[in-house]
Amino acid sequence: MTVHLYFVDPYLQTFDAQVVCVEPRGQYFAVTLDRTAFYPTGGGQQRDTGFLSDEQTQAQVLDVLEQNGDVVHLLDRPLHGTVHGAIDWVHRFDLTQQHTGQHILSQAFVQLFDAETISVHMTEKTCTLDLPRHLSGEQHRQAEQLANQVVQSNRPVRAAFIGTDELARLPLRKPPAAKHEMVRIVEIEDFDWSPCGGTHVRATGEIGMIKVLRAERRGAEQRIEFTCGMRALHDYSSKNEAVLSLAAQLSVKDTDLAATVRTVLDEAKEQRRQLNAARSQMLDHEAERLWTASYQSDGWRIVSQVFAQRPLDDVRQLASRLREKPATVVLFALSAEKPNLVFARSGDLQLDMGALLREVSAQFGGRGGGQPELAQGGVAGGTDLAQVLGAATKSLQHA
Ligand SMILES: [Zn+2]
Repeated sequence: MTVHLYFVDPYLQTFDAQVVCVEPRGQYFAVTLDRTAFYPTGGGQQRDTGFLSDEQTQAQVLDVLEQNGDVVHLLDRPLHGTVHGAIDWVHRFDLTQQHTGQHILSQAFVQLFDAETISVHMTEKTCTLDLPRHLSGEQHRQAEQLANQVVQSNRPVRAAFIGTDELARLPLRKPPAAKHEMVRIVEIEDFDWSPCGGTHVRATGEIGMIKVLRAERRGAEQRIEFTCGMRALHDYSSKNEAVLSLAAQLSVKDTDLAATVRTVLDEAKEQRRQLNAARSQMLDHEAERLWTASYQSDGWRIVSQVFAQRPLDDVRQLASRLREKPATVVLFALSAEKPNLVFARSGDLQLDMGALLREVSAQFGGRGGGQPELAQGGVAGGTDLAQVLGAATKSLQHA
């Protein structure tokens, strides 16, 4: 069984050890040592990264796994004899800050709101813990406040293997995962006692800030995303930059940003409303003008028009306005890469515009259809649209 050096000294960054087993595993090599400072993934903490080297070569540690009490290092090349190990300390210390911070935040939720952490997900990017019920934003702030008070009081953090008799006397936050004679208990002085095999800071002050970032509803549960230490500083820096940049763009103080954005959005909404009203009025006038200028015969009118460079929605809106007129047929074409046709008629006529559009679009290499009152389709690109509408008019006059 591998001696877990990280249990004895979680601050050990380099060590020497003997290779006890080397096995090929796919294109890599599974190497077991008699002792290691490399932490394997488990207990809510990610594995370490770093290097192992023997007298001949240096190997990259790609993964670290615990198997039957042994720690297995997955390497990109085999090693033999005596090896020297160096863990990536920046990576490890970041994980240690997040991990110890999670102990404190979980205990804060228990003490203040009797909300136990039911699961934890920690990666190199994000840390989350799941609570069994939903707490409010104000409750998150209270837990965050208590957690940071515990950090600032710089309490000692101790780890020790404890027998089951003594275990019963401790106010454990959660029971041990498996029954062992000796259980490793991590104590944050006068605050939290938890069974844990992870790596922890020596005193809470080393964690730095603990910040709740956001909460997400997951059925009856609530997922809390949080960040600690240097990650919290990086998060603050990037958000501070974003706030300052937005404030500069709006020429206001960062403290006035929220109110200014509200005003800008309200103004934009009002402008959109006014623009829509003006557009609607413009389309009313245009529809009226088209109708008055249209060709009238035998008591009904054909409003025929080719449009260019305008939204299809404008053309549709004009058609629907003209359909409100008595005895009116609308034949519209919109020139575009793929030209559009919109045919419509008022309710007092018996013509089938769907059939007409199908017939005419087919003549000009396109397709389309719709209801007897309103139909839409297209013709092949480059088609002379005046010719298309002429064909439709002719077809109507012979109907
Ligand atoms: Zn722990």
